[in-house]
Amino acid sequence: MELREENRMNNHEKIDTQCMQETDAAHHLHPFADYRLKKEQTSRIMVRGEGAYLWDSEGNRLLDGMAGLWCTNVGYGRKSIADAVHGQMVQLPFYNTFFHTTHIPAIELAAKLVEISPPQFNHVFFAGSGSEGNDTVVRLVRHYWSKKGNPERQVIISRNNAYHGSTMAGASLGGWQSMHSQGGLPLPGIIHIGQPSYLEGGKGKTQEEFGLEAASWLEQKILDIGAENVAAFIGEPVQGAGGVIVPPVTYWPEIQRICDKYGILLIADEVICGFGRLGYWFGSEYFGIRPDLITFAKGVTSGYVPLGGVLVGDRIVSTLMEKGGEFNHGFTYSGHPIGCVAALENIRILEDEKIVERVHSDTGPYLQKKFEALAAHPLVGNAEAIGFLGGMNLVRQKGATIHDNVPFDAALQIGPTCRAHMIDCGVIMRAVAGDRLVMSPPLTLTHAEIDEMIKLIILGLDKTVEDLR
Ligand code: PLP
Repeated sequence: MELREENRMNNHEKIDTQCMQETDAAHHLHPFADYRLKKEQTSRIMVRGEGAYLWDSEGNRLLDGMAGLWCTNVGYGRKSIADAVHGQMVQLPFYNTFFHTTHIPAIELAAKLVEISPPQFNHVFFAGSGSEGNDTVVRLVRHYWSKKGNPERQVIISRNNAYHGSTMAGASLGGWQSMHSQGGLPLPGIIHIGQPSYLEGGKGKTQEEFGLEAASWLEQKILDIGAENVAAFIGEPVQGAGGVIVPPVTYWPEIQRICDKYGILLIADEVICGFGRLGYWFGSEYFGIRPDLITFAKGVTSGYVPLGGVLVGDRIVSTLMEKGGEFNHGFTYSGHPIGCVAALENIRILEDEKIVERVHSDTGPYLQKKFEALAAHPLVGNAEAIGFLGGMNLVRQKGATIHDNVPFDAALQIGPTCRAHMIDCGVIMRAVAGDRLVMSPPLTLTHAEIDEMIKLIILGLDKTVEDLR
């Protein structure tokens, strides 16, 4: 693996951490933060990354079990991405892709994405982020049905606890009440059904039975509102930010059958699952589904530079080409040349180092085995992993099945406490509601690094148990 040689940013001893934290607290409004607590909380300042590791301003070395924010698929410190970006900055730092102009990076990336994507995709619409990708999806889907002569097909069905971004359309597609309640969301014509969470809804059923039941909620909703009004169904192949909810194997094939039966478009939001995270280029391939649209971002550039977009299937493109009429949508940074060259180099690395194949048949199964074995820890009620994604619930007492486990009182905040202990031990995980801790490490982890990550996780769990004594 090619890594940055010089320790360019290893100057944490020169950083006045306290002064920087105070300046941050004084002027920087962070995303998803409670500003009332701002003055009491200090933020960790990250200064350097190399492979799967980060260093903060106080010199602590942390194994990044979250790949930044589910995105540094090829790990940190890839000089060749920096070189590609530098070269493009010098050559042509920006030009737009409006009004019948284009540039080489956008052309090459569009062709490359088509090459690695499932066969129904021959076109790409670029955006700057996952949220912008999903805004594009909403507009594109409605434009398609209108051109097709079915303008009444407006409704997009999504799921509770889904995460599809933070713009008005992204937050509407998402199923988080906490986001909907701020700003009068969801937008009209976006509705939600239950999520395929076996832990939440599967008591007394097998995984397979519950998967079919959860998919049947889509059919029920379509029948309630009338298929003639439904435009599309959107889902993350594996819900990420909602807590790494791994659907039962029966779920997605049944969703595909229902979409086909009623002629409804299927949208896979692959902002997390794309670019190798499930051991395939796209997570929909893992589940054997054939989406009409795929939203991507994050792993397309491994987060080195912002870029997102939508793979648009032939079914949609052929109608839009045949019927004509302008699609009045686009962003200044659609197909930004810097993002495109970063993505091309990132994909080259994923290909040349056979990272996707390794996650598929070597490191992915190894990580899954090791991570799921954490369920033997006294604090862990259940642990599931798929590819390089995983989640586990911390419980007060274990029962005969995962549905009989006794959770902690939410007020105790055991999940966030445990996450803090893990960081003290040297590994970053993320805490979500229900004392669930999730992981999504860089796809480059070796067996030895996986072993180290699991060891650090266990240390953090043990410290949390000590707290509870
Ligand atoms: N879709 C999914 C599945 C995501 O996980 C995210 C971000 O976490 C988004 C969309 C939004 O992407 P962005 O934050 O780049 O707008």
